[in-house]
Amino acid sequence: VGDPSDRWRADPGASTGTDIECEGWRQEAALRMLDNNLDPEVAELPEDLVVYGGTGRAARSWDAYDAIVAQLRELGDTETLLVQSGKPVGRFETHERAPRVLIANSNLVGKWDNWEQFHELEAKGLIMYGQMTAGSWAYIGTQGIVQGTYETLAEAARQHFRGSLEGNVVVTGGLGGMGGAQPLAVTMNEGVCIAAEVDEARIDRRIETGYCEEKTDDLDEAIERAEAAAAAGEPYSVGVHANAADVLEAMLEREFVPDVVTDQTAAHDALEGYYPSGYTVAEADELRERDPERYERESLETMERHVDAILELQERGAVAVEYGNNVRGQVADFRAERARDSEGSGDDEVRWPLSGATDAERAPFDFPGFVPAYVRPLFCEGKGPFRWVALSGDPADIHRTDEAVKELFPEKDALHRWIDLARERVSFQGLPARVCWLGAETSETPQASRSGGDEAAEGDDERLTERARFALRINDLVADGEIRAPVVVTRDHLDAGSVASPNRETEDMKDGSDAVADWPILNALLNCAAGADIVSVHDGGGVGIGNALHTNNHVVLDGSDLAAEKARRVFTTDPGTGVVRHADAGYEAALERARTSDIAVPMEDR
Ligand code: NAD
Repeated sequence: VGDPSDRWRADPGASTGTDIECEGWRQEAALRMLDNNLDPEVAELPEDLVVYGGTGRAARSWDAYDAIVAQLRELGDTETLLVQSGKPVGRFETHERAPRVLIANSNLVGKWDNWEQFHELEAKGLIMYGQMTAGSWAYIGTQGIVQGTYETLAEAARQHFRGSLEGNVVVTGGLGGMGGAQPLAVTMNEGVCIAAEVDEARIDRRIETGYCEEKTDDLDEAIERAEAAAAAGEPYSVGVHANAADVLEAMLEREFVPDVVTDQTAAHDALEGYYPSGYTVAEADELRERDPERYERESLETMERHVDAILELQERGAVAVEYGNNVRGQVADFRAERARDSEGSGDDEVRWPLSGATDAERAPFDFPGFVPAYVRPLFCEGKGPFRWVALSGDPADIHRTDEAVKELFPEKDALHRWIDLARERVSFQGLPARVCWLGAETSETPQASRSGGDEAAEGDDERLTERARFALRINDLVADGEIRAPVVVTRDHLDAGSVASPNRETEDMKDGSDAVADWPILNALLNCAAGADIVSVHDGGGVGIGNALHTNNHVVLDGSDLAAEKARRVFTTDPGTGVVRHADAGYEAALERARTSDIAVPMEDR
């Protein structure tokens, strides 16, 4: 990717305050979000342009980064910049209501849509891994995922342990950009977390930022402390400096069975996201350089042991769930390939589910993914991780939005609890930001927004989605000067209507439509039509090349009527596509949400 650019070296991270270097706040917001992704406090390896999730990058090379910056600084209020896999490739005159930036990352034509092709094209400098929020400039550090992890574990606690993880031990792996949220999310749910991580520096980083409490090299010590904390009902977290597969096998040997077992190593990428057993990080990095094929094979062999150990712990009574890193799919594909290699063509074998596993080798998918297990009911309501970022850089702006979200939704106890916990326990990284799950539920909103022109005359009642109500409220606070500078609203790609991912978000859909990728495409097109300021479409994300298509969007709330118009539309269409996607699949909760939120589902009664 070349040497870090002078601009980044001189002052890494986003500018703050109210002076802007671009022609308008929409372009400035894109620039600050890009720079925020590469803030050393936010990104995992910013000097390599790697933001999180294995090799998820914000720009293809440092030259491409400089070119994006130059383009954004020149971009007019009626122009649209095209970014192809982290490189600016064109700029067109469009109009004020159109997006300012359109992004496509890592997309390949179906037959070529695999890691092998991707790595070849990447080596030629033609493509970049955009992960989810890395390449769409919406990553906000570990704070971005912590609520999703918290909510998912809270749902697990409701289903399996009487509503709290108090007295329960959760065992996991991976303390990277996303995985690092796990210990804090567990302790926020009153539980105890043991997290295996091969890279000691990552454990240290989570300890420094308050996500994890302690570390050790000694598994017996970790188990002992965890059991003592669980027995006392005290929240506690410890990072174990070891390979996750080895740790789970050692737990089986010791007959230690945790209450929950999961994993967030970057297993979706066998070459650059997961470490094979038997090596230190430095030794493994050297092997990857020297013999990538061997690295990948050993990595997959370790993953196979890892999944087998999870299944054995499940057999012995642990609640086992895959946390969105495609470790099951990787092992299923690896086994299928091995079977093909040893038996010649396996083309006529029955494939189940859509992962490459054969019928006889179902084992990896014998434990569920977290979406069908815990998150789908939220998706049916169009709910997903809505996030907003204060471009001023001033934490007081986010604290004002914390109050605003509580004022707007006084009846939502869980949301109040989350906001209070986040304020107390989640430290900001880079630009101050917040996340909460809001959806497509509508309500009559008296005087929804003072800004908004003809569409909402002052004093009118309006039916607005939760997301739109909140965005309009922020826009008013910006207009009033209660918030110092514009706020960007964006989200994770893991959302109700924005992703097709058969091993994760769309695993085991009611109508079998897991692999249908029309939905995210429609979501992105509709959000362009609705006037989002940045729209992006990616392949791969959290589960790896060829396994998912997903989209994102940003809306810049600068207090103007134009921002209100965009917010009103985008925060209706975006969660709305989640509702129609799940309604079309036959989920009753989504059909009901469509009826009560006035979302048209044309063939609902077919
Ligand atoms: P990351 O690359 O920042 O971190 C991965 C970590 O795993 C690294 O610290 C690495 O040292 C560690 N690791 C790798 N192999 C290991 C092994 N065998 N044993 C112990 N530690 C090991 O990735 P991330 O951003 O934390 O994401 C982790 C995974 O979760 C990815 O696959 C990502 O795609 C997925 N993900 C899930 C969600 C979700 O909502 N569930 C969201 C985003 C990403």
